[in-house]
Amino acid sequence: MCEFCHKHGEGKKWYLRAGNYSDDLLSDVKRRRFIEEFLSEPERLRADLENLERLSRAPAIVRRAIIWAITRRQKQVHYGQVVPIEDLERILGFVNSVVRLPCICRKITRGKEKRYCYGISISPDGGEMFRIAGSLEKSYLRGPDTKGLETLCKEEALKAFREHESEGLCHTVWTFRTPFIGGFCNCDRSDCIAMRATVTHDMPVMFRAEYVARIDPGNCTGCRQCMKVCQFGAVAYSAGEKKSVVDARKCYGCGICRAACSREAISLLDRPAVPAAAGLW
Ligand code: SF4
Ligand code: SF4
Repeated sequence: MCEFCHKHGEGKKWYLRAGNYSDDLLSDVKRRRFIEEFLSEPERLRADLENLERLSRAPAIVRRAIIWAITRRQKQVHYGQVVPIEDLERILGFVNSVVRLPCICRKITRGKEKRYCYGISISPDGGEMFRIAGSLEKSYLRGPDTKGLETLCKEEALKAFREHESEGLCHTVWTFRTPFIGGFCNCDRSDCIAMRATVTHDMPVMFRAEYVARIDPGNCTGCRQCMKVCQFGAVAYSAGEKKSVVDARKCYGCGICRAACSREAISLLDRPAVPAAAGLW
């Protein structure tokens, strides 16, 4: 289990603990202010992205020190984890409200409104989380194409997640001052700033999933569909065997390759059961 499971999970996966979504945690004034600022100042993300590019040109020793400090800070305020769809479904089993939101990252990286982000709350009416987001609705992202919040029932939310999965997007959960979890995102490496930071710039701002993919060679036809959708370059192809194989050390456990495999050759194993990946987060 990851570091957050040990600190915030009380013996289970931290994102499956209902208390981490509670309005009690939102009664913390600092947390409320953090969420308000996060939603109302998307331009700060643009500055983060520019700093990220600049950092990649810094001397290695400086880079390492800055990355260490940023990752440490992000774990306290806004950190994510890759989550496969079955665990999203489990979360939907106990949260009671879901709203779809425009993605801040896509607004910055593509200049477009793309509804790939979801606010979640354990309260039936969205509780404090949605009141904060709702009060910002008119200015949220400040774009002419921003249509505001969109309430979904659980079935609609799950259907949307499956559609995102078929687009090759990787599901993630996010804290707003850890351990409070306020949202899901559906990420890709080209548009999502967090995924770019973690994978491209080696600056972790999210954990890998609690799982690792495995391909059953007996069912694999070597079609390479899984390889095309993996955002992490974790699938290799053996021309000699005419089979694909997962590099467990690179796998983030998102399960997107599994959704792309028409042969049902891919399964997710618990990360601790795969020695090569057990300690990799
Ligand atoms: S998508 Fe499935 S059948 Fe095709 S290469 Fe990948 S594991 Fe094999
Ligand atoms: S190989 Fe791992 S990281 Fe790549 S799509 Fe499959 S589960 Fe995700």
